Amino acid sequence: MMPRAHAVRLAGAALALALAMAAFWPRPAAELRETRLVFGTLVEIVIRDVDAARGRAALAEAGHLMQRLHNDWHAWQPGALGAINADLRAGRTAPITPGMAEILRRAQHAACASGGTFEPAIGGLVALWGFHSDRPEGAVPSHAQVSALQARRPRMADLEISDRAVTSSNPAVQIDLGGFGKGAALDAVAAMLRARGIEDAVLNAGGDVNVIGAHGRRPWRVAIRDPFAWGAVASIEMSPDETVYTSGNYERFFEHEGVRFSHILDPRTGHPVREIVSASVLHPSGAHADAAATALGVAGAADWPQIAADMGIRHAMLITDDGRVLASPEMAARLRFEDPAFAAALEVQPLPAARDHGCDPLRPLRLSAL
Ligand code: ADP
Ligand code: MG
Repeated sequence: MMPRAHAVRLAGAALALALAMAAFWPRPAAELRETRLVFGTLVEIVIRDVDAARGRAALAEAGHLMQRLHNDWHAWQPGALGAINADLRAGRTAPITPGMAEILRRAQHAACASGGTFEPAIGGLVALWGFHSDRPEGAVPSHAQVSALQARRPRMADLEISDRAVTSSNPAVQIDLGGFGKGAALDAVAAMLRARGIEDAVLNAGGDVNVIGAHGRRPWRVAIRDPFAWGAVASIEMSPDETVYTSGNYERFFEHEGVRFSHILDPRTGHPVREIVSASVLHPSGAHADAAATALGVAGAADWPQIAADMGIRHAMLITDDGRVLASPEMAARLRFEDPAFAAALEVQPLPAARDHGCDPLRPLRLSAL
């Protein structure tokens, strides 16, 4: 048995050591959060198990970065993208930063691979339907207005992008990054946080989520919203550094004579999407998941498996306006349904082989350039 005096001395030494460690060791804060209203939604970042001072500094930097990207990429408020669009409309070459070149190339690639379902060059159409406003009020454009714009076929493929300038062979091109700017921004913020040593975090932009690492020993679990009522359809256990993005017609829409007009437009018809009320994509890149979710919503129940394959997406789930739940086999394996009605409605659809659209190879987004 240990003599009592010795045990007390040992305990005293341990206490002194613990106090010394507490003084010099950075003390992990349980959880720190930052929220900001950007990209038309409330973005919340939660970081865990990090030294409080370092965590607060990283969150402040995240807030500034999001605000800058929000300003630079805004579709209708004055900013860098607004200046580019004004130049393109006037047939002028627009000066750009390497960061803007990076995101425009990425948008061009996603548009190419999506077979015309994801098309950020349709800013003119988005404006025509009244969605370049914080509160879309709904003036349904005339057929003549829509077809006049459609006839001019604005496409990202019309752009020539260098690191310093962008030119359009078609002055109808007006860039709107609403379909994937949120994903690219959260990717950039996540990369910055990782570089600052954050290893356990979640970035949530109204249900569009990037996770960093795992949630302690349990993985982060993310819910996919029920498009018809308050609540969740299903939840997904996230692998470290995965993202899940949902494009929904319940987010922004207006109603006119009892009909809902959503902010997701079919570039092929010039009209809002009706059939798909929610499309979710799981992918390591938030920018790509965001673009693909929009593309699959446009592609619809018949074509989405082909477009998913073409865009290199393996995990997707769509919900139709009449309550069908369509999922790729790999997505179905990841879903945990919260509502038995959705589980019963699940139809697993295999993905075909990808087609070659002859797109330039996709280079990973250089997040540091943004
Ligand atoms: P959410 O804003 O709900 O995440 P999306 O990611 O689908 O939804 O983004 C929709 C936004 O993308 C619209 O508000 C508009 O700015 C733009 N957009 C609409 N239709 C398309 C499309 N077919 N391709 C690219 N961008 C689109
Ligand atoms: Mg999107």
